[in-house]
Amino acid sequence: MAVKRRTSQDVLLSTALENFYNAAEEMGLEDDLVEILSRSERRVCVSIPVEMDDGSVRVFDGYRVVHSSALGPAKGGIRFHPQVSIDETEALAFMMTWKCSLAGIPYGGGKGGVCCEPLELSLKEKERITRTFAARIEPFVGAWTDVPAPDVNTGAQEMVWFMDTISKIRGQLEPAVFTGKPVPLWGSKGRNAATGLGVATCAIELLRVLGKDPKDTSVAVQGFGNVGSFTAKFLHDAGVKVVAICDITGTYYCKDGIDVNKAMEHTQKNPKRLLEGYTQPGLEKSDPTDLLYLDVDVLLPCAMEGAINKSNADKVKAKHIVEGANGPLTPEADEILRPKGIYIVPDFLANSGGVIGSYFEWCQNLAGFFWSEEEYNQRLTSIMRSNFQRVWEYSKEKKVEMRRAAFMVAIKRVADAVKMRGVFL
Ligand code: GLU
Repeated sequence: MAVKRRTSQDVLLSTALENFYNAAEEMGLEDDLVEILSRSERRVCVSIPVEMDDGSVRVFDGYRVVHSSALGPAKGGIRFHPQVSIDETEALAFMMTWKCSLAGIPYGGGKGGVCCEPLELSLKEKERITRTFAARIEPFVGAWTDVPAPDVNTGAQEMVWFMDTISKIRGQLEPAVFTGKPVPLWGSKGRNAATGLGVATCAIELLRVLGKDPKDTSVAVQGFGNVGSFTAKFLHDAGVKVVAICDITGTYYCKDGIDVNKAMEHTQKNPKRLLEGYTQPGLEKSDPTDLLYLDVDVLLPCAMEGAINKSNADKVKAKHIVEGANGPLTPEADEILRPKGIYIVPDFLANSGGVIGSYFEWCQNLAGFFWSEEEYNQRLTSIMRSNFQRVWEYSKEKKVEMRRAAFMVAIKRVADAVKMRGVFL
């Protein structure tokens, strides 16, 4: 009897499940394993009461989901965003399982989030949200159980608040419970740029297998947060022409190429880290979404999920896509773009540099021994290259698109682990 497929109203969760079920079917995965892997091991929902700067009290909703711990402790970021929900968090945890499996690191998948608008919060309010959330999820996190990290709108500062709160509750320093910490506080040199370095490495590998010289290539990078800015920087440094970047303040286009390092310096001076007011000779500014429709060799959506969907996919003129964000293409967009012969490097391969870098940090924390930035970056790029190569070759061998190939490779490793460990708890 065929497995009854789980569905969800949440686009990201229904997309993730559909991709999983289709790949599992193609592999002939046993029904029991399909049933097990389509559910999450644990979904924690907490309330986060916080005293605001004006003395009023607001209660935020927070979540931490562990999808699977078959391969090791759950791993995945915590995001602060108004769209955060339990279903979105579960979808992202589910995708972390496949990301860690595909990356070849000893982790399961988890994710967390707080539903809030960080742009409207003061630093102190953000700190109180982070610390109260940390206290509420404290029983569920640990170096050998569930290891959170940064995600959308969280970074090194939030990770220190998390680590400090958990350490105080437990009465001992707990550096390996969180990754993405600042370098002076048990962080790793290289972690901040790791996701972008991985995305850029995948884009360069794609050009290599297609026989294209990076120096004759134009790209557009959507989003200029941690992932987008470092992706653009590493591509620019490799000689690729980054003709456009964007954030909520607009698209910044220059046919001769954006000076990405200058744009990064500009955002570092802006209190909200925005591109607002950035200028250079020959720059043209337009709406943020215009970037998606530029005629470039590679488009790199590095902002939020669902950026390319059924309402705008037909306007995309890029020759290929490398997904820097989690879930930037809906399945309808995939359907519209695939017949055009576009290669789409899927998110859980392209942006796995972040979690691979987190693995390096966790290893260093457990060993109490730190590596140089050169060693960190060199190990990261070499893992990214061989993972890209594995998915590329598998997709050619099985004659399936890269997303399907990546799912099949990832599911196999987790399914084997579940089989070996057995069904218990
Ligand atoms: N938030 C990042 C991701 O989605 C990193 C997760 C981690 O380092 O644990 O992959």
